[in-house]
Parts: sequence; structure tokens; C-alpha cells
Amino acid sequence: MRKQIMDIGFDSLSMEEALDAAMERIAAGERCRVVTPNAEHALMCRRDRRLLEIINSSGLVLPDGISVVLASRIIGDPVRQKLAGVEFADALCGRLAEAGRSLFLFGAKPGVAEQAADKLREKYPGLTVAGCLDGYYDDESKVVEKINAAPADALFVCLGAPKQEYFMAAHERELNVSLMAGLGGTMDVLAGNVRRAPDIFIKLGLEWLYRLLREPRRIGRMAKLPAYLVQAVWFRLRGGGKHA
Ligand code: UDP
Repeated sequence: MRKQIMDIGFDSLSMEEALDAAMERIAAGERCRVVTPNAEHALMCRRDRRLLEIINSSGLVLPDGISVVLASRIIGDPVRQKLAGVEFADALCGRLAEAGRSLFLFGAKPGVAEQAADKLREKYPGLTVAGCLDGYYDDESKVVEKINAAPADALFVCLGAPKQEYFMAAHERELNVSLMAGLGGTMDVLAGNVRRAPDIFIKLGLEWLYRLLREPRRIGRMAKLPAYLVQAVWFRLRGGGKHA
């Protein structure tokens, strides 16, 4: 079920349901774009209506952040849970391995996708990584050619927002893959170069704090979280939301 949280319609699903939905699309050979917006992306969409259109027309829109969960509660129509892109991606690799499906890893600095592929193959024996490509390129059509030469059932696009969303929307029809997911910094985590927060931070909804402590230069980006929540309060007070 999709829940409208201000501008963006988010899927209110459990992780298992999200994975089932993704695998069903792959089994049916249907094209499906997966996006993982958080507060930062939602604020970007205020200025970038094309990005908003791409997000809202995606097959799966996962609430990737405590900010989205909190905003949905403020508005009075809570989403079921946070669905972190990195957890979705990791678990999807397990499902792809089980189903004998293949994956293409695209994005991050040179060599990172290959590192991620090694880690994923180790964790999910039987996973077919059909190809790897870094996210720093001059000619986008060559990128499409390389992905199509693989080819794969699923594609992880890890270029950061909004680059990855634009890439997916622009090449959706010519890319020879079923499921494509825009996953930001996920490749660095899958490769083991960036550590996720310890479980206790994740459980308390404080993953953002852990990230801020490790990378203080992200403070400007992190400031988007309270700004988004203030918008949600304002939206509710002005009569928006389900129970208004
Ligand atoms: N990146 C890329 N190509 C670019 C710009 C960025 O492949 O032209 C990669 C970058 O190396 C990093 C990811 O995109 O792995 C963006 O990570 P970030 O943490 O900014 O994304 P978030 O998860 O916060 O959206």
C-alpha cells in the first residue's frame, strides 16, 4: 500500500514484502524501478519536480530513513517501517542467489563494485554477478552498452541522488534488465569500505547520528532531517494528512 507523505508516495511494506514484490517483478520479466528516498531526497524534490516525478512513478518507493517514518507519524498516516536501501540490497542478493538470478553492480569509485561482488559471492554462494562498473564515466551510452552486454536480471545503480534516478529513468527502456534499484552509498557498504552503524544505533533510529559522528562533514546534509520534519508539522497544521 502506498502512503502519501507530503509530495512522495511511499510503499508501506515489511522488508519481506518488499523483497517478494521485487522478486515477483523479476520472475515476471517486468521492468521495475526501485527508489529509496529519505529526507534529503524529499527536500530535493521540492526544487526538482522531474526527480519527484521519477520517484513517484517508480515501481517500489522504499522509505529509507527514520525521517520518513517520523514524518509519516506526524502526518497521521504511518508507514509500516523503515526500509533501508542497504538492507534491501543485501537481502535481495540472497534472494537472487536462491532463485538463480543474476546481478550487475554499477556505481561508486573504481574497484569498489568488484570488492562488493567478492563480498556478496562469499556471503551468498551461488550469486551470479554478471558485471561490475564504476560510477565515474564520460559516455553514458557506453555504460548502457556494457550493462546490456552482461546482461543481468537486476541492476544496482549507486551514483547518489539525483544522478542515479535520472540515469534509471533515462535508460529504463534500453537497459536489458528487469529490476533496477537506485541505492546511493550502498556499494561502499557492501564492499566493506563504509561501516553501517552498530545495531543499537539502528534500533534507536539513530543511524544518522552515528554517520554524523564518523563523517562530521555531512552536517549540512543531515540538517535536512529536522527541516523535513518541520515541513511535516507545518503540513499537518495546515490541514494536510489523512486525519485532517
Ligand atoms: N558516485 C558515483 N558517481 C558519481 C558520484 C557519486 O559513483 O558521479 C558514488 C559515490 O562514489 C558513492 C555514491 O555514489 O559511492 C554516493 O554516496 P552518498 O553517500 O553520497 O549517497 P547517499 O547514500 O547518501 O545517497
